[in-house]
Amino acid sequence: MSNNKPLSASEITDLINDLSRLARNLWWTWHQESQEIFHELSPRGWQNLYHNAMAVLHEVSDYELRVRLQDPEFASRVHGVLTSFDSYMKDPNTWGRQNAPELLEAPVAYFSAEFGFHETLPIAAGGLGVLAGDHAKSASDLGLGFVGISLFYREGYFQQTINQDNWQSEYYTLLNPKNLPMEPVLNSKGDPVICTVRMAMSQVAFRAWRVNVGRCPIYLLDTNLEENEPHHRDLTLRVYGGDSTTRIMQEILLGVGGVRLLRALGCQPSVFHMNEGHAAFLTLELTREKMAEGKGFAQAFQETRQQCLFTTHTPVEAGHDRFSGELIDYVAPKFKSQLKLSHEEFMALGRVNPSNLAEPFCMTVLALKCSRAANGVSELHGAVSREMWACLYPGKSVKEVPIGHITNGIHVLGWMKGPVRRFWRRKLGSSQEAEVVSLGGGESTAFWRQKPATNWDAELNSPEFWKRMLDPTFVSDEELWALRYRLRRELIEFSRRRLLLQGQRLTQRDFITFDQLLNPDALTIGFARRFATYKRAPLIFHELNSIVEIAKDKQRPVQFIFAGKAHPRDDEGKRFIQKIVHLSKYSDLLGHLVFIENYDIHVARQMVAGCDVWLNNPRRPLEASGTSGMKAGCHGCLNLSILDGWWREGYDGTNGFAIGGDSHPDSVEEQDKVDAQNLFTVLTEEVIPCFYSRDASGLPRQWLQKVRRAMATLVPQFNTWRMVQEYANRLYLRK
Ligand SMILES: *Cc1c(COP(=O)(O)O)cnc(C)c1O
Repeated sequence: MSNNKPLSASEITDLINDLSRLARNLWWTWHQESQEIFHELSPRGWQNLYHNAMAVLHEVSDYELRVRLQDPEFASRVHGVLTSFDSYMKDPNTWGRQNAPELLEAPVAYFSAEFGFHETLPIAAGGLGVLAGDHAKSASDLGLGFVGISLFYREGYFQQTINQDNWQSEYYTLLNPKNLPMEPVLNSKGDPVICTVRMAMSQVAFRAWRVNVGRCPIYLLDTNLEENEPHHRDLTLRVYGGDSTTRIMQEILLGVGGVRLLRALGCQPSVFHMNEGHAAFLTLELTREKMAEGKGFAQAFQETRQQCLFTTHTPVEAGHDRFSGELIDYVAPKFKSQLKLSHEEFMALGRVNPSNLAEPFCMTVLALKCSRAANGVSELHGAVSREMWACLYPGKSVKEVPIGHITNGIHVLGWMKGPVRRFWRRKLGSSQEAEVVSLGGGESTAFWRQKPATNWDAELNSPEFWKRMLDPTFVSDEELWALRYRLRRELIEFSRRRLLLQGQRLTQRDFITFDQLLNPDALTIGFARRFATYKRAPLIFHELNSIVEIAKDKQRPVQFIFAGKAHPRDDEGKRFIQKIVHLSKYSDLLGHLVFIENYDIHVARQMVAGCDVWLNNPRRPLEASGTSGMKAGCHGCLNLSILDGWWREGYDGTNGFAIGGDSHPDSVEEQDKVDAQNLFTVLTEEVIPCFYSRDASGLPRQWLQKVRRAMATLVPQFNTWRMVQEYANRLYLRK
């Protein structure tokens, strides 16, 4: 396309159609130039509509769009983006095509009760969903045969505000499919594909929406149909909404309904991957299908087992759904008869001890019994899970329990904040020819070498690229520090805007001058995640006076930014929020501590990019993996964490900070005490001195060395490209 000739009317029409196709594929959420196009079309709209490409396209009139595209420069950039999109979608040389062609015929079906893709589609409650979203994005990047199944929660996960009593309150907003990157799943006549599942005495109908995640379709099931009774229409209202009856119905819809939808679409997956136990009812549907063809239960169940994989995500008891026999009987009266099982035989599928008639039905147990392989999400979590579920494998020692581990990762391009991507783009743009630093062996690097770095995006996915962080001639300390400063400033300005909006609802807060809130030069420590109590958000404020002293040090100030949601029914978690919000308003930490409301993917991105230190202090070993610290890595934010989950594998003594060692006391009280002490010690003896030790030119050389080490060592390992390849090589493909 020429750079100065205006387009013809029909060329413009084509571009507009393609732009709308682009907006309906989440690929744009991890492609910087695409986002810049939507942003440029309506900068205010982009901000107000929360970075929603579909909504921006609706906001800009067709006439305006045509006029704007008459600018040859803009049109040529739009064209460039669309060309990249098409070549991504049609790439014939993907990893999947070369290494897993059989999955293109018979894909992986990945079932997850939540998916976190982007802030405009808030259907995730936390890390589990974000991981599922990142898994799908990397499956697409790798060109894997992959379809996802989840539910379309039309009110999503709750939105959080903090009221005058510093108590979390929840509200919900209705999502509008028209403004979301999803399309109805239609049959050849153009009508919605409708399937049904049995719930108690009713047949509940559902339809599906297709979310395009690059090359991979994710189907979201939706019971909001006129033919359903109101309470069934609301089954897909909210993420984990309602009581245990709603919960089990959602899980039946996900597991049983998900399989039925795939069949209705003519999809015959080679493997069914259960991301957490919520989806485990799919095993019953697969077994039922085989029995309907005349097989006996034992054979059908064994064959189903060969098709299924299970990833467990938490050692926390409450994370494992358990349902009473009565509830199952009520909600799914046909399960037993379809499987030709007695009540006790059926219950045995979900019991650790089948002869314990008082034991409820546990979804994790069903998933473990009916999968050919199971895994935890970090090395330590694998070990903890083997111990936790050894009871299911009598006669086996804990070591022999068949639960392995694949450590979680993040989708690096999806998490990287704009300025950082632009920073690397500039670097790479000027050094495309630069030689690649050669690496030692290591199996996970082989793939990256195979794929030629044809554009800078691909470079950002290569471990070789991240190893170059160690080279001061590639990136100087000055540039790195300037980048860190810029990211911190952006976070602080983001926080000021957010706090101003939060403050507008609370009249007493007029006295704060928001534009002076927080200090752009101060060491900034971030903590943001779900406020599950084992994550111990208030731990750092254990010895309040000492923390106040540290924070208010004139020469070496420290400030804290917190965010996170407590589950609506978790009063203990809400008390943690209350405590922190209270400290932020009424203690001597005023001005040094803020709480940003309504934590979500967008807030997460701002925080992991802009903080200097990412604090993580779970009660070990309850943080199965954790992923937010991985997101910090690619922005040069350093982890300060208990050696739990992924950090136990990531920390090497040079690339961040460890709280305590590779063990923990047995008693919870003792652990809380020791961890609080250790946290304080590392903070005062290592973190603060290192950050504030500046050389003659004002640079914190040792700190920047740690930043380089973090980028070079963590990003190449804790990403979903590596993770999904591991799933493919070790579990999806039968070798
Ligand atoms: C990454 C992420 C999480 C997971 O955070 P952890 O610290 O691993 O628990 C939760 N919520 C959101 C919105 C995230 O982006």
